[in-house]
Amino acid sequence: MQFTDLGLRAEILRSISEQGYDTPTPIQAQAIPVVLEGRDLMAAAQTGTGKTAGFTLPILQLLSSRDTGLSLKRFKPRALILVPTRELAVQVHDSVRTYGRHLQLKSAAIFGGVGMTPQIKTLRAGVDIVVATPGRLLDHVAQRTVDLSGIEILVLDEADRMLDMGFIRDMRKIIALLPKQKQSLLFSATFSDEIRGLATGLLNNPASVEVTRRNAPAEAVAQSVYHVDRERKRDLLIQLIDDHGWHQVLVFTRTKHGADALADKLGRAGIRSAALHGNKSQNQRQRALEDFKKLKVAVLVATDIAARGIDIDELPHVINYELPNVPEDYVHRIGRTGRAGSSGQAVSLVCVDEHKLLRDIERLLKKDIEKRVVPGFEPDPRIKAEPIQPSRGARQAPRGGKPAGQRNGAAAGQRKPQQPGAGRTAAPRRNGGARQGARYS
Ligand code: AMP
Repeated sequence: MQFTDLGLRAEILRSISEQGYDTPTPIQAQAIPVVLEGRDLMAAAQTGTGKTAGFTLPILQLLSSRDTGLSLKRFKPRALILVPTRELAVQVHDSVRTYGRHLQLKSAAIFGGVGMTPQIKTLRAGVDIVVATPGRLLDHVAQRTVDLSGIEILVLDEADRMLDMGFIRDMRKIIALLPKQKQSLLFSATFSDEIRGLATGLLNNPASVEVTRRNAPAEAVAQSVYHVDRERKRDLLIQLIDDHGWHQVLVFTRTKHGADALADKLGRAGIRSAALHGNKSQNQRQRALEDFKKLKVAVLVATDIAARGIDIDELPHVINYELPNVPEDYVHRIGRTGRAGSSGQAVSLVCVDEHKLLRDIERLLKKDIEKRVVPGFEPDPRIKAEPIQPSRGARQAPRGGKPAGQRNGAAAGQRKPQQPGAGRTAAPRRNGGARQGARYS
């Protein structure tokens, strides 16, 4: 099947081909015709499947064919795409603009962490499509700078993530403000009872489509585990990056504090690094991401929440500096690489504390991950496992417990401050100091 078979208008087909795409992904092939028919949709699809275009393209088509866009009303958008994080809001909005570049439709990204005034100006001028995080959207509702009574199409993107982040109340409030008569699309990677409950109340005789990611991790991503002691992970990471000449590496840590400390350490070792997490301002986060995309920094150290939805074509390396508490998050993390047909590599540095987490991940994957030990970094058998501190805001294992509520990915609480100089060694001079650490703090 080709995009030209889907009944999309010429302006949209043009922007798709300008992106270099000719064949719809399975989720696009299934979802687009259903949405164009005007039906509600429940879609099981993860990031990496092409789901964003799966809802963006038909929405652009529907809105542009129903209206010329000239009758825009102040503060009254026609389509609402709700997303869990600011990063995803920016990315989805980019897709709306990219695919809609030959149409007259207007759009806005509405998220927290930045000033309200520019958003108010945009909303006042009139937009067709709003891509928003729930918290900031409700702020605008409270100030009457958005009126949701004209919404024709609603999308809940990454609905499971929005629930994980404690947005259920906000989502219900928003849904209650929308007209009864509307088209609703729900995208979620997983379908818990809570999601099903939400879907039952919202969707009207929905079509359901389900796809697995285009590149299941087992096929496209080469996974390996390096056994190493807890205190030696940093040195091993530096050695791996240097030995292999890795130039674009996404590194996951469990905590914001850990992300900062590691970016700092790598910077001192001469590896250009930036940290990305919820305590950074929106501008800092955007800049870190841009610099990483443009290869100005080689390593981006991120927490799970901050990294959600990061969309970089052909990201070659993902490193789990610490394993996530929930095995499903491992799959999400390594799904950042090996996308859109490229091959990727996922490396996990695992210490004695994390052996149980590793077993849980392998059980989920239904396979063993290849184990490696780097000479000089052999784990010391005398070191005993220590309990892992739960990370704030991240999902906790075992499941069933309520995760800490979060708004727009911002921190719900503060961790203990780091002891000055704790555990630090003199930074080695590397490569004649040619590479400078670049941090954003
Ligand atoms: P998503 O699942 O929406 O995050 O998209 C995953 C990646 O696939 C993005 O980098 C898109 O640019 C890319 N993509 C989306 N649709 C297609 C397509 N039809 N062919 C090739 N790549 C695509």
